[in-house]
Amino acid sequence: MVNARQTEDGYKAAEHGRVFVKVDRSFLSPQVCSACGFRDGPKPLHVRAWMCQNCGSEHDRDHNAARNVLSKGVGSSPPDGRRR
Ligand SMILES: [Zn+2]
Repeated sequence: MVNARQTEDGYKAAEHGRVFVKVDRSFLSPQVCSACGFRDGPKPLHVRAWMCQNCGSEHDRDHNAARNVLSKGVGSSPPDGRRR
């Protein structure tokens, strides 16, 4: 069976004309500091925010993950829809 959630996300991204970058999930599970790159280890789902033990930055779980995804996504080839 196809993973319904992943498929749906992919379709949604396509509908909105955005690039759907497939990101390796392996770096999403441990909480990686978006400021210094320190891997702070996996956090339980109820932990919404955490502090980097290396640089002391406070991170919102989702925002930090999003930043990491964005930084990973940069460098992939852009779509051809951005012509001006
Ligand atoms: Zn840090």
